Amino acid sequence: MMQYDYIVVGAGSAGAVVANRLSADARNRVLLLEAGPASHPWSRIPIGYARLLTNPAANWLYSSEPEANTNGRKLPVPRGRLLGGSSAINGLAFVRGQARDFDTWAQMGNQGWSYDSVLPFFKRMESYAGAGDDRFRGRDGPLRVTNPEPRDPIYAALIRAAGEVGIAHNPDYNGARQDGIAMSQATIAAGRRMSTARCYLDPIRRRPNLRIETGALTEALVLDGKRCTGVRYSVNGAPREAYAAREVIVSAGSINSPQLLELSGIGQQERLASLGIGVRHGLPGVGENLRDHYAPRTRWAIGARGITYNDRGRGFGLVQQALRYALFGQGLLAMVGAPMRAFVRSRGGLDAPDLLLGWVPMLTEPGPRGPKISRQSGMTCYAHPMRPESKGHIHIVSADPRRPPAINYNFLSSPIDATLTVRAVRIARAIMTAPAMGKMQVTEIAPGAGRNTDDEILDWVRQVAETTYHPVGTCKMGSDALAVVDARLRVHGIDALRIADASIMPTLTSGNTNAPAIMIGEKAADMVLRG
Ligand SMILES: Cc1cc2nc3c(=O)[nH]c(=O)nc-3n(C[C@H](O)[C@H](O)[C@H](O)COP(=O)(O)OP(=O)(O)OC[C@H]3O[C@@H](n4cnc5c(N)ncnc54)[C@H](O)[C@@H]3O)c2cc1C
Repeated sequence: MMQYDYIVVGAGSAGAVVANRLSADARNRVLLLEAGPASHPWSRIPIGYARLLTNPAANWLYSSEPEANTNGRKLPVPRGRLLGGSSAINGLAFVRGQARDFDTWAQMGNQGWSYDSVLPFFKRMESYAGAGDDRFRGRDGPLRVTNPEPRDPIYAALIRAAGEVGIAHNPDYNGARQDGIAMSQATIAAGRRMSTARCYLDPIRRRPNLRIETGALTEALVLDGKRCTGVRYSVNGAPREAYAAREVIVSAGSINSPQLLELSGIGQQERLASLGIGVRHGLPGVGENLRDHYAPRTRWAIGARGITYNDRGRGFGLVQQALRYALFGQGLLAMVGAPMRAFVRSRGGLDAPDLLLGWVPMLTEPGPRGPKISRQSGMTCYAHPMRPESKGHIHIVSADPRRPPAINYNFLSSPIDATLTVRAVRIARAIMTAPAMGKMQVTEIAPGAGRNTDDEILDWVRQVAETTYHPVGTCKMGSDALAVVDARLRVHGIDALRIADASIMPTLTSGNTNAPAIMIGEKAADMVLRG
């Protein structure tokens, strides 16, 4: 039995941050357990996310249960399984969300989570290289964030087209206001992915008071009555135990954190009992409140030559891109998943955007090792509501820690989500067909000219939409009957156990979820250290 002060389970976006900040005090003995390996070669190169989307070496490769509103399809649920977690395989877009997201959390009774309260942590995490207002942006944190200029003609055309439909250019959507169209800010620097493994763990690997174990699957929390005293885990099938004198912090992500609680007897009593798991603490909210972005990808043919990566990233073009990357760290291989995005209001009268559109300057299709670049030249634009109201759940189906949990999204179960998804598709159409896009010779491929009524568009959404890989909320913070942790991220009813990752979000933030997950790690560590 090994003894530590703190044990952190999961070295992802949040967990790596927690381990870094806690071990900064040499008196704290910290154990960081990660189920996956230390790294993967494709994780270093931004475009590597395309190779890691379906790669079991660095990805848990979960999938959802079939549902009526996915036309019975099982949707892929990729999750990073290596140091850095999902920050090491994600699309690299850096989006904080809106001030109102965090003010809403505070308004729900979560003291200390208003935007004013979390802003210092957002600033502390980053070294932002772009122009921006220093009241909002950090310049000397561990995470390097960059903001590319809209140099390619397609981006300039999109900015003009958006302007023609009333959407202004706003280069710093992580600053005072989110509204508008912009190049995506990215966790990329000098052509390399800036995961939390790279930015928070690499610089501190030699700390003598920090032990990082990879290939270490945590199978259960060890409880002494209502106190968490440690963890049981296995390395290559060999069982191990570690003891935490102060606290265990679970940062296993929105799928695995509720799974680990349930495996440890913390959750819905009847469900656990039916699987033969002894109930240690009844907590009905574990695994509930699952939220994600359900996003159709609209597809557009581009007739102008040499504009998209379908023209510039295949055959000899790919050789040129590889050279450009090797020499300058730029181009296709250094590309953020969706290099341009727009935060848009679905209708007048709203005081903040409620829709997100993201553009990828190429068409792709499924290939044997992940998405591959199509022959046809075009663009993809995904479009979805940012704060969907539909909620699903994740629950274990077996007491075996290696068996994937069942993921039920319940997408479009809230009618407003369907209405807003259709509206988002219509706004994508309006921008892609605005006069400024004329030179690009745009033709709609999907949903296609034949789909015009709301019902026709919605029918298509059910056939094609997938998530943008942002599951949150399954161990939500709050004080209501379904809350799992309190505002200090302590699990209700269990001592010395906190959760710090995207699963604690009571609602989805307005945009992508990596930056908020890192902020949660920063804030969790601060709360732990303050006692
Ligand atoms: C393909 C993809 C693309 C994405 N694109 C973007 C994007 O462009 N921008 C953005 O902001 N967000 C993006 N996201 C979402 C974002 O990356 C996640 O919201 C964020 O990383 C979640 O952080 P987390 O700390 O909650 O969990 P994770 O980062 O997933 O970390 C959980 C860690 O715990 C480990 N773990 C789990 N169970 C155990 C166990 N039992 N024992 C030991 N270790 C365990 C996992 O292996 C993992 O390393 C994307 C996600 C994916 C998967």
